[in-house]
Amino acid sequence: MQFRDLQKQYEVLKPQIDEAMVKVAASAHYISGPEIKELEKALAEYVGVKHCITCANGTDAITIAMRTWGIGKGDAVFVPDFTFFSSGECPADEGATPIFVDVDPRTFNMDPAKLEEAVSKVKAEGKLSAKAVVAVDLFGLPADYSAIQAICKKYDLLLMEDAAQGFGGSINGKMACSFGDIATTSFFPAKPLGCYGDGGAIFTDNDEWADLIRSICVHGKDTSNPNDPNAKYNNIRIGKNSRLDTIQAAILLPKFKAFKDYEVADVNKVAAWYTEGLKDTCLVLPVVPEGFYSSWAQYTVQLPESVDRKALQAKLKEAGIPSMVYYAKPMHLQGAFAGTESANADCVVTEKLCSTVLSLPLDPYKTKEDVDLVVAEIKKALL
Ligand SMILES: *Cc1c(COP(=O)(O)O)cnc(C)c1O
Repeated sequence: MQFRDLQKQYEVLKPQIDEAMVKVAASAHYISGPEIKELEKALAEYVGVKHCITCANGTDAITIAMRTWGIGKGDAVFVPDFTFFSSGECPADEGATPIFVDVDPRTFNMDPAKLEEAVSKVKAEGKLSAKAVVAVDLFGLPADYSAIQAICKKYDLLLMEDAAQGFGGSINGKMACSFGDIATTSFFPAKPLGCYGDGGAIFTDNDEWADLIRSICVHGKDTSNPNDPNAKYNNIRIGKNSRLDTIQAAILLPKFKAFKDYEVADVNKVAAWYTEGLKDTCLVLPVVPEGFYSSWAQYTVQLPESVDRKALQAKLKEAGIPSMVYYAKPMHLQGAFAGTESANADCVVTEKLCSTVLSLPLDPYKTKEDVDLVVAEIKKALL
């Protein structure tokens, strides 16, 4: 069994994907080809946000959002302690100080009460200037945006939504990537909507920021005349070279259609089979709060502290079942932050999660038989 079966998905979509790749190869429009605009328009419409700007990867997307807001040295950016490294790496890369905030043990997402505590503490100390929140839609579930937005409003903070894992999720019908003042996603192959290499996108309703983002993505080009083919030789700020390749956009177009038409619904079905199959075990299962919809980037259970995670993984592996630990280390304990202000975080929930979580094989193409096998092997191993 594959942890996330990307080959199976390719088999199903092969005719459309092959045609799309060959078409780009023959067109020679390898950079900024027409598929880029077509994809950006389709994604913006789906999310319900005015602007979508594609870029080279989900990490660049966050960095570019930070740069758009001029975030840098002396600024505090609040980031959940339980996430992939990029969420904190990008503000730090711009010179800001990530302040790590503990998460809710049931949703794995930033705990709004802990966020407010952390903001108050930074304000009271007065050393750093509280600027922005990077909220993460971990494992496909949107963060608690009604509470987080209220805190951002109260303390005058910008809200960045890191939806690298959250694309396709929603809250009461409002789509992920529409909750932040700027939102970002990733098309890394294993994300809910993945391409065949690296890719990312940035979303915002703000015209001025959208313009700045387009400029930063292409060497700080002058965007005052969007049809000027020589704009990238008129550089009005320091930018980056961060674009999605045309061929990746062409691959994403049929993949996005499958994603919308059935993949998100199917992966929800697979997750529901796990929840039904594992409900009478000692495992703590992932929850989706009322009104929330997850795109299930991962199905992550929590083991009782009495269960040896390594031994369980070894038993599953023997039965041909891969499993992963997302994530084994809290952000504030990553070596990159050792000795910095970012290492001073009180995140006991994250610390416990890091030693007890286990992610199970999941993708929209898993069958009931696949899930039954995983469930049976877990039950056997827990006896
Ligand atoms: C994967 C991921 C990123 C980075 O995306 P890349 O495309 O791999 O650069 C950022 N944040 C989170 C939460 C992620 O899971």
